[in-house]
Amino acid sequence: MTIPTEPIGSIPRPLKLLHAIKRYGGLDPRLEPLYEEAIQDTIEQFEATGSPVITDGEQRKYHNFATYCVEGLPNTAPDGFELPFADGHSRRWRRLTAGPFRYVMHGYDFLDRAMKYAHVPVKQAIISPSALSLMYPAESLPDYSREQFIADLLGEHEREIRGCLAKGAHDVQIDFTEGRLAIKLDSSGWLLNGFIELINLALSRFSKQECRRIGVHTCPGSDRDSTHSADVDYAELLPRLFELEVGNFYIALAGEPDRIRVLKIIRQCLRPGRRVFIGVVSPIDPRVESPEEIRDRTLEAARYIPVEQLGTTDDCGFSPFCDDTSTTRGKAFAKIRSRVKGTALAEEIINGK
Ligand SMILES: [Zn+2]
Repeated sequence: MTIPTEPIGSIPRPLKLLHAIKRYGGLDPRLEPLYEEAIQDTIEQFEATGSPVITDGEQRKYHNFATYCVEGLPNTAPDGFELPFADGHSRRWRRLTAGPFRYVMHGYDFLDRAMKYAHVPVKQAIISPSALSLMYPAESLPDYSREQFIADLLGEHEREIRGCLAKGAHDVQIDFTEGRLAIKLDSSGWLLNGFIELINLALSRFSKQECRRIGVHTCPGSDRDSTHSADVDYAELLPRLFELEVGNFYIALAGEPDRIRVLKIIRQCLRPGRRVFIGVVSPIDPRVESPEEIRDRTLEAARYIPVEQLGTTDDCGFSPFCDDTSTTRGKAFAKIRSRVKGTALAEEIINGK
């Protein structure tokens, strides 16, 4: 019996790259050699952790995990949806000012570069259509209806997933950090319903076999060691989350005050044939978890989730926003090394070695 372990995605960028981004902006062609260097170095260090599946650390995702695909799109303005964090800072989406909606960059563009350097399987995280749906303004745009926007958005999302699968991504992970947030923004559940429906609408374009290589990630947000929706009860989200027609679920758990309660909810909702990757590392906790701690968290999860449906992961990326330097690269890799070792320790015990 093996327990698969996967990262979520992002690794803090090298400071040299961040300085250049500050100086020239993230889209300046002069940055390309620095991005390339960052990707190569990240993949080398990732492989050195022993991680059986890696990412490119999202080094080229500018400015962040959500809007990388629309940075540089001319028909947008910077004053879009505001994402407030518990420590008082906030992040903003871009706002669509006119049609048509198009991606400037797709996840498969990153994959090409990563696979050039990688010797182990590479996964690709992409943003959910629901997160990008927040770019459409509350008042309709003249000559570009919301319906037309959603049609274009789903088209781009589908193209992104298909491209990633075709290029050989180990799996594709849809980042759905706004799931838990949706309940905070709208306690009636209407917003969350809309998000789930939109993602499932996109997934309905894929075969069952393709959906097995697609997953979804949920977390309470992670930026500058803060969260945006950790106060929302998972019980409000998880039953809906598991309605998504994907093969893999990546669920932040290490940072939860009552993990057992969440594991019991997962046990109730998890359908056969799906795998749930439990977060055993907290990127916003400055302490590096020990392999023994990870082992115990994995064994704890195995008491509630059938081992053949269990995996481990990090609670979130280590810097979903590119300028977040609250965690060093060294610390991120140390935490990943612990996850890999701790998961293997749990596996040995489960296999009776
Ligand atoms: Zn996350």
